Amino acid sequence: MTAPRTIAGLAARLAARELSAVELAQDTLDRIARLDPALNAFVTVDAEGALAQARAADEARARGAAGPLAGVPIAHKDVLMTAGLKTTCGSRMLGNFVAPYDAHVVEGLKRAGTVLVGKTNMDEFAMGSSNETSAFGPVKNPWNPAYVPGGSSGGSAAAVAARLVPGATGTDTGGSIRQPASLTGICGLKPTYGIASRYGLIAFASSLDTPGPFAQTAEDCALLLNAMAGHDPRDSTSLDRPVEDYTRTLRAAAGAKPLEGLRIGLPKEYFGAGNDPEVASAIDAALAEFRRLGATTVDVTLPAVKLSVPVYYVIAPAEASSNLSRFDGVRYGHRAARYDDLADMYRRTRAEGFGAEVKRRILVGTYVLSHGYYDAYYLKAQKVRRLIANDFSRAWGECDVIMGPTAPSPAFRFGDKGDDPVQMYLNDIFTIAANLTGAPALSMPCGFTKGGLPIGLQVQGNYFAESLILNVAHRYQQATDWHARVPPLAGQG
Ligand code: GLN
Repeated sequence: MTAPRTIAGLAARLAARELSAVELAQDTLDRIARLDPALNAFVTVDAEGALAQARAADEARARGAAGPLAGVPIAHKDVLMTAGLKTTCGSRMLGNFVAPYDAHVVEGLKRAGTVLVGKTNMDEFAMGSSNETSAFGPVKNPWNPAYVPGGSSGGSAAAVAARLVPGATGTDTGGSIRQPASLTGICGLKPTYGIASRYGLIAFASSLDTPGPFAQTAEDCALLLNAMAGHDPRDSTSLDRPVEDYTRTLRAAAGAKPLEGLRIGLPKEYFGAGNDPEVASAIDAALAEFRRLGATTVDVTLPAVKLSVPVYYVIAPAEASSNLSRFDGVRYGHRAARYDDLADMYRRTRAEGFGAEVKRRILVGTYVLSHGYYDAYYLKAQKVRRLIANDFSRAWGECDVIMGPTAPSPAFRFGDKGDDPVQMYLNDIFTIAANLTGAPALSMPCGFTKGGLPIGLQVQGNYFAESLILNVAHRYQQATDWHARVPPLAGQG
């Protein structure tokens, strides 16, 4: 039975006209008004726009011209440009910036008929793992408001977890879809780099930034990815490949052992002493379930992945320092009210517009790219990036997917890692490698701590293995119900 608030379930009810898009949009807006003040998941709610889109979806349905997701309410991370709607990137710098055009993935979801209800809160310029760096205040974890929802796409993750919307977009540069999905108990997919266009995605680190979906289930992620993927000549790294239906493997009939023949690689580097014991035992239980579903497990090794955090924290800031140089007070967003001359205007604008974490990244990035340090840091990081990719290529000879925890710990308390950036960066230890290689990876819930916080399992695959990963997750979700648990802050009904 599909739960009524999944995308698949809602799309079926909309198609059967048991529910109109306008009724659903109104119900969604009511839920957001009632529940979001305690969560702070939304930066902008567009009630008027949502109702107008919902009316258009109902009309399209009446004409027999409804898209596959007509009337399904969604939210976009506020790093994705939405024409005519504020796009803040969680920053004072873009506090009043109204996007002049839609991102490619926004266009795709619009074409599929989704109803955009609003933009979600995020770490400033997508830099963070806890949502504490947003200029608009932190997002609360719907399982316990004293805990972070993860980051940087924490607003989208919390909105889906609290059932405010059945699906949302995120972007993943070093784990920002998978880590918040893990910490809030939902499903999130980072596709292969180049599958979904970066056009209209405000750049953080261009060689790593990847848009992707959040939803309660793998099936819903597949439905969203169908609308987000596709070639876009406006992004030079967008891949020109045949269009895929990511739900096709999910619909295939399956017996008692639907994953017969699947080889799951278990890298010893993912099962070390650094993992929280409750996380470790939930992952073990999930692996036992996968064996029941017919899969076998094989030990693999990824020796260079231990270097992924230092490599990422050279490459990502380097690219960020270059990308963020465009925020100069002339072309976009904030400009200091008072200044002496042009150089002073740049200085004051950037000092006022950016928060501490963004400034830290710009400083680090500028340093590692500077003459004399480029070879020692940036170039060396690029070489180690290749070694990490080589480790994975070798592993794909021995297994079809790689599993392990998405994050070494469940959600942590606000302030716990705030004054120690290195501790914060280490939360991304398992997610970053997939960004450095560009391969796809998914997180889905596989258990809870005794304190009631969700635990996420990461499923990684080789390039273009989205369908396989989604199918593996889907079969697990058909056999378990972790994904169907509803957090306390989702309220009643
Ligand atoms: N937490 C990582 C960072 O702070 C990843 C962010 C992301 O994926 N956007 O850079």
